[in-house]
Amino acid sequence: MQITSEHILRFLENVAATIKEQRDYLTQLDSAIGDSDHGVNLDRGFSAVVTKLPTVADKDIGTILKTVGTTLVSTVGGASGPLYGTAFLRAGMATADRFELSADDLVVALQAALEGIQARGKAQRGEKTMVDAIAPGIDRLREALAAGDELISALQQACEATRQGMEATIPMLATKGRASYLGERSIGHQDPGATSAYLIAQSLLASLQPTT
Ligand code: ADP
Ligand code: MG
Repeated sequence: MQITSEHILRFLENVAATIKEQRDYLTQLDSAIGDSDHGVNLDRGFSAVVTKLPTVADKDIGTILKTVGTTLVSTVGGASGPLYGTAFLRAGMATADRFELSADDLVVALQAALEGIQARGKAQRGEKTMVDAIAPGIDRLREALAAGDELISALQQACEATRQGMEATIPMLATKGRASYLGERSIGHQDPGATSAYLIAQSLLASLQPTT
């Protein structure tokens, strides 16, 4: 199956709706090890994205994703704004001028997004950040596709790996971002950014699944 710009637009609308729905949950997670703004930050950003979508609806996927990136950078604030903003900008650069993407193109775009996050935030796996959810998800997606699985099945497996990565942040000690200020007291709490990354992965899967 090919991923079209319609799929990408639906994905972005799904993300905005899911983040809005889960805003208080994300903020509650951030109140335990941060400053209680993660849900509010992302809701502000993705709501702004939705208002921009009509202006790029007929554009290539790269342009759509780059617009998302610049919108997030300029509206979210906090650590997650520049990080998710860079992720979408890099994914947009990887998909420039494209109106359709193969499953392998999706892997390339997601990998570019992850590299952007790591270039910006310097977090490695195991530091209790969004990287701990995103990186294993991309690994699983790549493995499932290499094993010959269809895109939807591969994405279902990737979402499951992302969920496991999110849950694996609970016992971790935070060494990056605001949660690192807590030292040992960051242990025992699920990372808000890993949680929003899982919600975004779920939204991607939902937007590619047939609607019937
Ligand atoms: P802030 O911490 O500035 O209030 P948010 O609350 O919006 O920003 O986002 C917090 C999330 O950002 C964390 O839960 C974590 O997943 C992610 N994060 C913070 N710093 C980094 C980093 N250096 N690399 C990757 N992710 C990070
Ligand atoms: Mg915060």
